[in-house]
Amino acid sequence: MMSGTEWFARARRVTVLTGAGVSTESGIPDFRGPHGLWTKNPAAQRMFSIDEYVADPDLRIQAWQARREHAAWTAEPNSAHRALVDLERTGRLRAIVTQNIDGLHQRAGSSADLVIEIHGTIHEVVCLACGDRTSMRSALQRVADGEPDPPCLVCGGLLKSATIAFGQSLDAGVHRASVAAARDCDVFLTAGTSLQVQPAASLCEVAVAHGARLVICNAEPTPYDELADAVIRERVGQALPELISASV
Ligand code: NAD
Repeated sequence: MMSGTEWFARARRVTVLTGAGVSTESGIPDFRGPHGLWTKNPAAQRMFSIDEYVADPDLRIQAWQARREHAAWTAEPNSAHRALVDLERTGRLRAIVTQNIDGLHQRAGSSADLVIEIHGTIHEVVCLACGDRTSMRSALQRVADGEPDPPCLVCGGLLKSATIAFGQSLDAGVHRASVAAARDCDVFLTAGTSLQVQPAASLCEVAVAHGARLVICNAEPTPYDELADAVIRERVGQALPELISASV
């Protein structure tokens, strides 16, 4: 059996699926890892359900406070993000499909047009009624100025971070772009994702069905390990730079 490094060295076109584990080394906790938000506090999952968010004003107030304190505002990209910038420089990166909402791939230097934010971004807010999009920065300023659950300035509707909560569908165009990237690669690399959230995780099957080799890099086992051609059970901050520098 060939190793992840060997598959990678042969690849001409790579699509990468990243998850929260790529940003833990930047100080942003994941959900399901050993130090994950939900591992430590399962009740925190409520904040990520669209039905609960819409129904419960107290939960929205908590959600705005959590957004104010989010680690993304101070986090810096780490060596895993930087390794993917190096991969782009080799000309072999088809796309980064990221489940992360923190914007750290772009901050590290990955081209925005190669980063598909399948679960949206925390840097913007969207009105659930009229769809108006504005910056998170201005919404958080309103919270700081005394509006605990600031309404949409256009229509008065509920505002929420422009991220996909459980119960919300993915943006159709973004989903199409991620499927196209999974079909159009010879290596599909997953990094720092538990592969438990659908439809993101099923991109592994799409890639394999279209002839790609699947390389999984994650600290813990995933439901797709058996489908993979290689599994790298290491820290992504170490594994991705090694993988990418070994193959250039
Ligand atoms: P997850 O929490 O389900 O899984 C993260 C996985 O990464 C775990 O299996 C963990 O063992 C592994 N991991 C953690 N640190 C690692 C490291 N340094 N090296 C290697 N592996 C590591 O996260 P997910 O699969 O991305 O899915 C959950 C949802 O979480 C996504 O929809 C995403 O939007 C959201 N999320 C995003 C952020 C972020 O933007 N940084 C943070 C938390 C959650």
